[in-house]
Amino acid sequence: MTLHIPFDNTYAALPPVFYSKQAPVPVKTPALVAYNSALGEVLGITSGEAEDMAAVFAGNALPMGADPLAQLYAGHQFGNYNPQLGDGRAILLGEVVGPDGLRRDIQLKGSGRTPYSRGGDGRAWLGPVLREYVVSEAMHALGIPTTRALAAATTGETVWREEGGLPGAVLTRVASSHLRVGSFQIFASRGEQAALRQLTDYALQRHYPEADGPMGLLRSVRDAQSELVSAWMSVGFIHGVMNTDNSSISGETIDYGPCAFMDVYHPQTVFSSIDRTGRYAYSNQPDIAVWNLAQLATALIQQAEDPQAMVEEATEIVHGMPALTEAAWLRRFGAKIGLADPAREDMTLITDLLSLMAEGRADFTNIFKALADDIQPGHGRARDQVLAPEAFDAWADGWRARLAREAEPEAVMAAANPVYIPRNHQIEAMIASAVAGDYAPFERLNTVLADPYQVHESAEDLRRPPAADEVVKATFCGT
Ligand code: AMP
Ligand code: MG
Repeated sequence: MTLHIPFDNTYAALPPVFYSKQAPVPVKTPALVAYNSALGEVLGITSGEAEDMAAVFAGNALPMGADPLAQLYAGHQFGNYNPQLGDGRAILLGEVVGPDGLRRDIQLKGSGRTPYSRGGDGRAWLGPVLREYVVSEAMHALGIPTTRALAAATTGETVWREEGGLPGAVLTRVASSHLRVGSFQIFASRGEQAALRQLTDYALQRHYPEADGPMGLLRSVRDAQSELVSAWMSVGFIHGVMNTDNSSISGETIDYGPCAFMDVYHPQTVFSSIDRTGRYAYSNQPDIAVWNLAQLATALIQQAEDPQAMVEEATEIVHGMPALTEAAWLRRFGAKIGLADPAREDMTLITDLLSLMAEGRADFTNIFKALADDIQPGHGRARDQVLAPEAFDAWADGWRARLAREAEPEAVMAAANPVYIPRNHQIEAMIASAVAGDYAPFERLNTVLADPYQVHESAEDLRRPPAADEVVKATFCGT
């Protein structure tokens, strides 16, 4: 084996109640289609010969030091409690501590059946694998906490989905851990207090060593999640499936299923084909994050001798979340319009703009970027982005008056407004090309999205919103 991954596993050393040891299921013809060498270096991995890389990242060979397992968890899916989920198509190979001193999980996704697969095949097809690769790496480049993509491999096998037979693939995902709200819920609902306590200690040590006890953990997760959800809002991201099993303890974006970045702004936008009631619509995300935190609180208090004694503090922590999210939201959206230190009075300037954008069917990313360019009069033409430019002009007068009190609005806006986001129609086109054997669009998207705040001369097309016939109305789990 020429590939070397410096594993240092701690989760596998926990008692077996937390997982099932399980090796990935070998595939027919492994082929490596992507390897993120920059991330490999962050993890301290020494890459090897092509054949070894393909074998490892498709699940056909276990690198030295791996201790593969499927993690156990439960979760509320669309508000309904499912008492047992777990990794049904993923395998944790192990953990590494990179040269930066940070511990991270390395997980294969789409690596075959596990004891938690229920009716599923444990596999993934190439489309969602490449989608997660591109979108998670784009999220990272935008500066938003997220799992990352280390590799993608095809399996040479056919995966059967509603659409028919599709090429199978495996994604190698990296996370600061895969602990979720659902990881705690399962032991709380089963009344397994010792396991709950042990997992709480583990999570504290791994993610929040400065915090203390179950309420310290709850508070830390709250702070991380309120930052995360406001960051999503600021780039027009819709997670799509904010179930408690997809809500990470570390505060990273996890599980890129039917997610999307908005083109035209509308607060009620929903993409996910399975979200029939709009539970996870764009503007509902801050409230859902509170709902998920309340589920974590409910689980964590079960470890106390007298859970009732913790209720008051837990309630206070959960109730504190909306104000934190709003403060983070104000800071981020303030920056988007050039305000370095926005005050509460600036809120209406932002919400008025958002109303104009919704009524005027503005492209979320492009109007903010045009506004940034508009600081040099006549350059960006944000007014052209809305259907009713006169209403916009009145807003812009007030905005310019407010900007007069700012020292460096140009720099503030440049750092807060990306030029490029992974647009759905471009992702769909990239997937279609890859399925036909052409990975050039995949590589090009990765290159441009790795540097999203700069204009790339040759990538003007990637700024374009979809034409009427290119609009993607729904995204699918498709896993
Ligand atoms: P998700 O909606 O992707 O968060 O997945 C929810 C649950 O369904 C998790 O327990 C997954 O492991 C499981 N699951 C999703 N797709 C599959 C599949 N193809 N085979 C087995 N389990 C799956
Ligand atoms: Mg999930």
